[in-house]
Amino acid sequence: IRASASPRRPPGSAEGAGLSVLVTGAAGFVGAHCSLALRKRGDGVVGIDNYNSYYDPSLKKARRALLGSHGVFVVDGDINDGRLLAKLFDVVPFTHVLHLAAQAGVRYAMENPSSYVRSNVAGLVSLLESCKDADPQPAVVWASSSSVYGLNDAAPFSEAHRTDKPASLYAATKKAGEAITHTYNHIYGLSITGLRFFTVYGPWGRPDMAYFFFTRNILQGKPVTVYRGRDHVDIARDFTYIDDIVRGCLAALDTAGRSTGGGGRKRGAAPYRIFNLGNTSPVTVPALVTMLERCLMVKARRHVVEMPGNGDVPFTHANISLAREQLGYKPTTSLEMGLKKFVRWYLSYYGYNRGTHSFRNHL
Ligand code: NAD
Repeated sequence: IRASASPRRPPGSAEGAGLSVLVTGAAGFVGAHCSLALRKRGDGVVGIDNYNSYYDPSLKKARRALLGSHGVFVVDGDINDGRLLAKLFDVVPFTHVLHLAAQAGVRYAMENPSSYVRSNVAGLVSLLESCKDADPQPAVVWASSSSVYGLNDAAPFSEAHRTDKPASLYAATKKAGEAITHTYNHIYGLSITGLRFFTVYGPWGRPDMAYFFFTRNILQGKPVTVYRGRDHVDIARDFTYIDDIVRGCLAALDTAGRSTGGGGRKRGAAPYRIFNLGNTSPVTVPALVTMLERCLMVKARRHVVEMPGNGDVPFTHANISLAREQLGYKPTTSLEMGLKKFVRWYLSYYGYNRGTHSFRNHL
């Protein structure tokens, strides 16, 4: 742990900001990409993940292997384990925590509500307790979500918009997370930056997300279910490419003010910030399917149905002025370009054989 978490730059590595970062959810989609990017620029990184079974655990293990080959060690553990966290903070003087561990997914919350409370509320509190007691206190950057805007029809959403109508329990736990982190900021002086991600996609992505399972279904000749909103309005998402999100996360870490010294009550000693990280160009789901058809050179079998009341919102659209101004955040990847990169990764990872329409691995 000491070696990979050293804030000193390894010889020959790119210039980093000299951070020592604990990445929670490091075997997850965004966590793995951020851990690699931090390591590549020479920052110290230690990950933690409980490898929950929400989606294919073998994909998480493959991400962990990739991280291992780049010198990032991922502790197999749960953020609810306060003793484990205390030990980690004792061994490594983390300057920053990038908190990405969560029970993700909107629809899964209908059948598994308690897993959201456990990871996104109790787990967050457990982590913040360890951060507040650590010496030095790390600056915390964490993933909130565009879902906090809920059934808000005043798009594009800016950070000042109302967040009082969450459409799912997932969204409610992210909104709770914003209130909880704000409390730790003003009572204990923890530096907090919340990032509201908008539908992140890309290589090593999440199999539960539409672009991912649409790709699988199109290649296997299975129907693709496209939900349509009320009054026949197409559902739209502000799809944001993973590399843009990673740049936003690293900029948030680099600009997060650190509070001075461990523990104690330091009212108002550190900043509390919230930023949208989106792409500012929503795309409808039917248009997403058309782009995938072009990338895959296969026609989809579309099955259009009314959107069930399962926690999904009709559209998302980010206003990113604040992140642009304060973080220098500027997404550069169009959905067409990002999907090409995703499809290239997908075909090689799953070993797809166009001749037989079969997959060598995992599927
Ligand atoms: P992910 O599911 O791939 O990654 C989350 C990781 O956290 C998983 O590997 C999981 O095993 C781990 N984890 C969950 N509970 C844990 C616990 N109690 N202890 C330790 N590890 C735990 O999801 P992701 O897409 O990488 O999302 C990262 C973060 O960004 C999450 O907080 C998510 O809510 C948020 N977010 C993601 C998106 C998106 O489009 N991907 C959009 C908005 C917000």
